[in-house]
Amino acid sequence: MWLIFFACWWRMIIKLPGLIDPHVHVREPGGTHKEDWKTATSAALAGGFTTILAMPNTQPPVTDDETLNMALSAAHSKARCDYAQFLGAGPDNLESLTDLGPQTAGLKMYLDQTYGPLRLDDMSLWMEHFKSWPRELPIVAHAEGRTLAAVILLAAINDRTIHLAHVSLREEILLIRAAKEKGIKVTCEVAPHHLFLTKADIASIGIGLSEVRPRLASSADQEALWKNLDVIDCFATDHAPHTLEEKNGENPPPGFPGLETALPLLLTAVKEGRLTMQDLILRMYSKPQQIFNIPEQPETWVEIDADEDWEIQAEVFFTRCGWTPFEGRKVHGRVRRVVLRGREVFRDGQVMVHPGFGQNIRQSASTL
Ligand SMILES: [Zn+2]
Repeated sequence: MWLIFFACWWRMIIKLPGLIDPHVHVREPGGTHKEDWKTATSAALAGGFTTILAMPNTQPPVTDDETLNMALSAAHSKARCDYAQFLGAGPDNLESLTDLGPQTAGLKMYLDQTYGPLRLDDMSLWMEHFKSWPRELPIVAHAEGRTLAAVILLAAINDRTIHLAHVSLREEILLIRAAKEKGIKVTCEVAPHHLFLTKADIASIGIGLSEVRPRLASSADQEALWKNLDVIDCFATDHAPHTLEEKNGENPPPGFPGLETALPLLLTAVKEGRLTMQDLILRMYSKPQQIFNIPEQPETWVEIDADEDWEIQAEVFFTRCGWTPFEGRKVHGRVRRVVLRGREVFRDGQVMVHPGFGQNIRQSASTL
């Protein structure tokens, strides 16, 4: 049973399992000025995550054997925590994906506009992917509003389990509740920025920096997410770094960094009584482990100083992008130490492990 407390000198230390983030944009290949496998996995460890699942909208996107190997070989030499890589569903890769499936985190279907070229508009293609992707492997959809309703229907018709990424609206969470009540096999995740920011924060964050997909929503939407916490299976960061220059430029790309802020924000919500520590562990460890079939990491845990109050400042973060929409926010609870497979990998602000220590959790099926 997780959640072990012990007093270390005068402070309360909480021991959590190594957390799992099922939604991370590592940006390598193709965007290493924003982030790469070294910096993303360092940020993950600093944030208490020992496993991350990497999204495929890189440049080039990960859609076939060649691009998968490109991403996995970068990860193999640079990752500091464990990982797996998603494949992107495209119009031309139906057949080749089936064989690659077991080497991957799962299939990602982009059904609404986001960063990168992977959007699938034609619903008949969704059906084809549902039919051909191996049944035991996860499918994750980026689908907003009515697109979400459409993909739930198509998944139900095909009797497929589907995981819905970054749910942000009241109408979406209520639809997922209704679908679950009908016995449709859906799971979902919510990103901390939709739990802790609304469009009222855009003015203080800045227009360009606030660009994110799904967009920051209303306070009624935010409230609905908190009210329907029981419907939310996972908290996933959707860590999506872009540089300050890009965010403040003419065409600001959507996305926030999130690996180093998710846990302190959620621990602060625990302190405020908005959720319990068990709620947090369920959504950052147990459920993602179950949904994405993530193997147990032996001798792995995260130590949290439950008493530390501190202020979020991007300048000390490991993410390469150098900023956070939560700059200056006061939070409660800090990651002090992370042990991964028996090795101390993070301690008091220092990453202690070399690039390449991280393992591909689908390694047995991998070509690497
Ligand atoms: Zn994303």
